Amino acid sequence: MDQKHRWSFWEQNTWLENTDVCVIGSGIVGLSTAYRLKKARPELKVLVIEKGVLPEGASTRNAGFACFGSLGEVLADLGRMPVEQVLRLISRRWEGLRMLRELIGDDAMQYEGLGGFELFTASQEAEYIQCLELMEWLNPEVEKITGWSKPYRIADEKRSDFGFKGISHLIWNAAEGQIHTGKMMDTLHRKCTSAGIRILSSVSVSGWDDHKQGVSLHTSLPAKLKARKVVVATNGFARQLFPQLDVQPARAQVLVTSPLESNPVRGCFHYDQGYYYFRDLGKRILLGGARNLDPQGETTYSQDLTESIQHKLEELLRTVIIPDMDYTVEMRWAGTMGIGNVKEPILEMVGEHILCAVRMGGMGVAIGSLVGKDAAARILEQLSDTIIHSE
Ligand SMILES: Cc1cc2nc3c(=O)[nH]c(=O)nc-3n(C[C@H](O)[C@H](O)[C@H](O)COP(=O)(O)OP(=O)(O)OC[C@H]3O[C@@H](n4cnc5c(N)ncnc54)[C@H](O)[C@@H]3O)c2cc1C
Repeated sequence: MDQKHRWSFWEQNTWLENTDVCVIGSGIVGLSTAYRLKKARPELKVLVIEKGVLPEGASTRNAGFACFGSLGEVLADLGRMPVEQVLRLISRRWEGLRMLRELIGDDAMQYEGLGGFELFTASQEAEYIQCLELMEWLNPEVEKITGWSKPYRIADEKRSDFGFKGISHLIWNAAEGQIHTGKMMDTLHRKCTSAGIRILSSVSVSGWDDHKQGVSLHTSLPAKLKARKVVVATNGFARQLFPQLDVQPARAQVLVTSPLESNPVRGCFHYDQGYYYFRDLGKRILLGGARNLDPQGETTYSQDLTESIQHKLEELLRTVIIPDMDYTVEMRWAGTMGIGNVKEPILEMVGEHILCAVRMGGMGVAIGSLVGKDAAARILEQLSDTIIHSE
């Protein structure tokens, strides 16, 4: 007898055969897509495949800002996108957050709508003035979307509350919120498994064959997995399977301090067009960013940390955020985002049976569940004329 791997009848019948939809990637988009599919059509056999033991991209490695954008970020967006597109993005972020809160529940993901501040130094006076001009126009537009009256406001009087050094101005965003990213993803994962979705971790997809009736996926398992439809939710890694897509990997690095005796930071904070962001994690501070120091070097699949960016983050802590405090840096990590020339997700068919739902940029917490819902709707349209193997 040859000694190749043999699946049991049970393994084949339960996990490997008759998959209606296979979702590649168990980040927020992949799991949201799978969940929406199963909720809409419980008879569908939905399988999620994930290359890591835990998700290895961004969904369990981010900062947990439930945000629709600081003024500095919106200003930067207006410099490269038409006004209508910028407003549509704000609206989608808001709608996505509403959907995430409804799906997961505020308590389950420790959602806190504490608001947020954007910091400006004296050397950023020109940008601050531009932000004030933008605020006049943007507040009524955002009010139409969110119902919040004057969400952005000048908050210079708050400067002394935080003890920041060298900060000339603060702008408040009332609609900013923060979540416990781990609890959000854990709840989503459990919702998926309770709904009957199977999730196979530590299995990576390396290619596929198109067939008339569906797709055969080449995986690290000793078997090809067949599915009628496939959703690619691999975000920053999308080009490893589909090199034609406009998605670049973008490494993002963060650090977390030791617990502070008293933490002046409460809420979400942005600095330098959103290139730096920090928040409280109980008595600790989580700080991330500085990708703009080395955009080329940070265009990488590697999740190694770099000396220059970690040093810059530490410097910002020491010189601006908590200049007079004793602490150490206790944790550091990096995640992989997916960005492109256009700051919008890609939701498009890349084969007769393969849908891509990728390129969430730095806003996947906000839009991920909405993109998952849209992806599921596209697949459901396509399955409407297909015979489904009932579970
Ligand atoms: C440090 C950091 C801070 C961030 N902060 C925020 C924030 O505060 N607010 C916000 O809205 N967004 C933030 N983001 C962005 C946000 O986390 C992402 O946009 C979002 O998580 C993307 O979700 P996703 O499901 O599309 O991708 P991912 O979470 O990256 O999921 C893709 C999954 O696909 C898997 N995969 C890839 N290739 C394969 C393969 N060949 N076979 C099998 N599996 C595969 C990966 O392992 C990964 O788990 C941040 C990101 C980072 C890294």
